[in-house]
Amino acid sequence: MERPNAWKKIKNKDAVLQFSEEYKTFLSEGKTERECTELGCAALAKAGFKELKTCIRSGEPLKAGDKVYRNWMNKSIVAYIIGTEPMTAGMNILGAHIDSPRIDIKQNPLYEDGELAYLDTHYYGGIKKYQWVAIPLAIHGVVVKKNGEKIVLNIGENQEDPVFCISDLLPHLAQEQMTQTGAKLIEGENLNLIIGGEPIEETEEDGNKKKELVKEKIIAILKEKYAIEEEDFLSAELEIVPAGAARDMGLDRSMILGYGHDDRSCAYPSLRALMDYRGVPKYTLCAVLTDKEEIGSVGATGMASNYFENITAEVLALTGEQGEIALRRTLTNSRMLSSDVSAGFDPDFASAFEKKNAAYLGHGICFNKYTGSRGKSGSNDANAEYIAQIRRIMDEGEVSFQTAELGRVDLGGGGTIAYLCAKYGMNVIDSGIPVLSMHAPWEIISKIDLYEAYRCYCAFLNGAQPCDD
Ligand code: MN
Ligand code: MN
Repeated sequence: MERPNAWKKIKNKDAVLQFSEEYKTFLSEGKTERECTELGCAALAKAGFKELKTCIRSGEPLKAGDKVYRNWMNKSIVAYIIGTEPMTAGMNILGAHIDSPRIDIKQNPLYEDGELAYLDTHYYGGIKKYQWVAIPLAIHGVVVKKNGEKIVLNIGENQEDPVFCISDLLPHLAQEQMTQTGAKLIEGENLNLIIGGEPIEETEEDGNKKKELVKEKIIAILKEKYAIEEEDFLSAELEIVPAGAARDMGLDRSMILGYGHDDRSCAYPSLRALMDYRGVPKYTLCAVLTDKEEIGSVGATGMASNYFENITAEVLALTGEQGEIALRRTLTNSRMLSSDVSAGFDPDFASAFEKKNAAYLGHGICFNKYTGSRGKSGSNDANAEYIAQIRRIMDEGEVSFQTAELGRVDLGGGGTIAYLCAKYGMNVIDSGIPVLSMHAPWEIISKIDLYEAYRCYCAFLNGAQPCDD
């Protein structure tokens, strides 16, 4: 059983290329969950979605065709288009995450060593640490001052901006280092970001007694340019990401090299599919772009939190249906595509895969009945009845799709947000785009897979229905 290459079935190549351009812009501008939330909410507002908070305040009821969204703590988004059927008939939900593996700045980060100034870091998500040294890095994030004032930082993306770097040992002196395993090659505690190298000018007043002049210079720059004091790092969220924009890859330009395809390559088309929906849907449509997936969906903005359920309860109430039982019915009767990137088959590491059940770049959106590891542990394992419905929707929409497992049995695996939504009893299946070099600073996807994901989401929003139980 072989699935065909999606490029061969392509009908409108211009549309594929156009969508890829729009995605590249989103990816280059949205390098943190906060930036993606800001971009997403701005796009939703422009597309006529109203702020849920405003609707709740005014108490104006929601009716079929109405569009609302909620910005959750500046790190997650939930958006809805109300259907003609009551919400208790269940929603057609698209879900994906907008946090990506990266390196975070510690709370007390600034120090000087060897007459260089550094920021100490703690990495976020599962990274191969050795991949993050000796490449240009940018600082994105916020510093919130005690008085609540928020300073937004984005340094290293413009051509005139300085960039930052974590150094590696030269090969000439690396004999000992090179005998280490990959996990130890670069230790987490050695991921220190170099941010300065020039001592501050000494003045008569301090009697040349100042120590750590390079660090002092950085403190002076932070104060002068950004009005940030060293203590303000205590209430900052600064993320170190690869500097630079997403780019076309390959002589044929069929691929995109970019930071954060996991999982923005699913989040962006999910949001676009909802925003591009025309007309009044039968069932309420929903897209949730969530945070913290890479560290286990924890925290108030992760899928394990109740924010999605709470926001849905608010929307439900505004449609005139109240109470616990209505909320339970809405959630349990829903259908969901939980989208997260899949491990693309890599011929250089063929033994990590089982070829018949691997995801191939260029073969379209990938469905994973289950993910998990070592005996499906931690996976969602979608129902066959539901997968049959998905197959029908994909075939009717002429969407190129494939199915896969995350690598060879017994080798490893991973989790997604699917099992967290499945706890409501709704039908959920993992789907997503195959990626090469997943979790590396620069990841690879195929443009056709991105576009087929978008077409898949459009078809799903249109066609998904309650399953008989
Ligand atoms: Mn991931
Ligand atoms: Mn992911």
